[in-house]
Amino acid sequence: MSHVFARHSRTDLRQASIGKGAYLYDADGKEYFDGSGGAAVSCLGHGDPDVIAAVQAQVAQLAYAHTSFFTSQPAEELADRLVAAAPGDLDKVYFVSGGSEAVEAALKLARQYFVEVGQPERRHFIARRQSYHGNTLGALATGGNVWRKQAFAPIMVETSLISPCYAYRGQQNGESSFDYGQRVANELEAELQRLGPETVIAFVAEPVVGATLGAVPPVEGYFKRIREICDHYGILLILDEVMCGMGRTGTLFAHEQEGITADIVTIAKGLGAGYQPIGAMMCTGRVHQAIADGSGFFQHGHTYIGHPTACAAGNAVVKKLTGGLVERCAVMGDKLQAALEAEFGQHPHIGDIRGRGLFRGLEIVEDRTTKAPFDPAKGLNKLIKKTAMSNGLACYPMGGTVDGQHGDHVLLAPPFIMEDDQ
Ligand code: PLP
Repeated sequence: MSHVFARHSRTDLRQASIGKGAYLYDADGKEYFDGSGGAAVSCLGHGDPDVIAAVQAQVAQLAYAHTSFFTSQPAEELADRLVAAAPGDLDKVYFVSGGSEAVEAALKLARQYFVEVGQPERRHFIARRQSYHGNTLGALATGGNVWRKQAFAPIMVETSLISPCYAYRGQQNGESSFDYGQRVANELEAELQRLGPETVIAFVAEPVVGATLGAVPPVEGYFKRIREICDHYGILLILDEVMCGMGRTGTLFAHEQEGITADIVTIAKGLGAGYQPIGAMMCTGRVHQAIADGSGFFQHGHTYIGHPTACAAGNAVVKKLTGGLVERCAVMGDKLQAALEAEFGQHPHIGDIRGRGLFRGLEIVEDRTTKAPFDPAKGLNKLIKKTAMSNGLACYPMGGTVDGQHGDHVLLAPPFIMEDDQ
């Protein structure tokens, strides 16, 4: 009997033994196509010699140094790389070990920013019902995934949640997609007015929704309106690119495609590509300067922030992404969409095929015409996962509740190195 505390206590998981390119192999040698890169992590595939060499060299030279005493060359280099490639005024990078940590840091930085500039009355976050921002208590509170949250709701800070931008289910008959986007974006303004805009810190959103909806991009104009509302009421815009960032949608940052800038952006998953656990929070010079001019100290930190070996992996990964792999992701993503449409476009139980880059989702429905979902008691996601695994495909099926209505989807996020035949 295993002593590893697995998340699924009633499932016997196979041991992953070898990773090679776009494939994983279990201890019995069975091959799996890594169709979701874990959870949109393994963007380079497995066994990349350049990332491995970078990690090996760094761990031999300096594995770790605490950030209270030192910065490090790999952290400095990675911050420079990310700032150079980032849209807007993102100017400072705070390295952590994963996505939830990045989101916690973002929430705390946003709150501290307003304390530093003399607006301590700002205490509310507004986010969206169908979103996931991590499993630590602050990040979990900001997300809207009912299933992940419900047991912990009594011990979490209450967050205001507005509608997601989810055209497949939300756009009404006769409404243009632009008008739909404006309508749901305007929910932010209504919620600000309800709370009192002077009490709100920030709006938090994933540019392309990952785990809870399955690669749902916003409609044209939605985020422009969101940015306008944030600016009008002086609140910060925090974009969570933990899953959709680092090239996954065909541009290094997903929000580049919305023509907007953010005050704070979180990244993780693809940043380390699975070779090291690393995430980051990026913020504008203005936000950082408020701390520098005020207390001079960001009231937040973990032992492993700015980990040199993790940053060395990040440098090797970002070098590859910005060296042509993001463009490859965009091209392969279009091919994947076309292949999915050819295969499943008329399937009686596939209601929607969507996404950007190599970040694609299929929504599974009982009835294509009415969009009625399957009964959650069917446990469709478990069945799909089991069937896919037994057929040599690791993918990411999810069942979730959207505004009181159940929905099932499969998220695909294969490595950017995948080939046409794969
Ligand atoms: N934010 C988003 C958008 C995510 O998809 C996730 C994880 O799936 C997280 C945050 C949390 O990241 P992690 O699991 O690395 O803590």
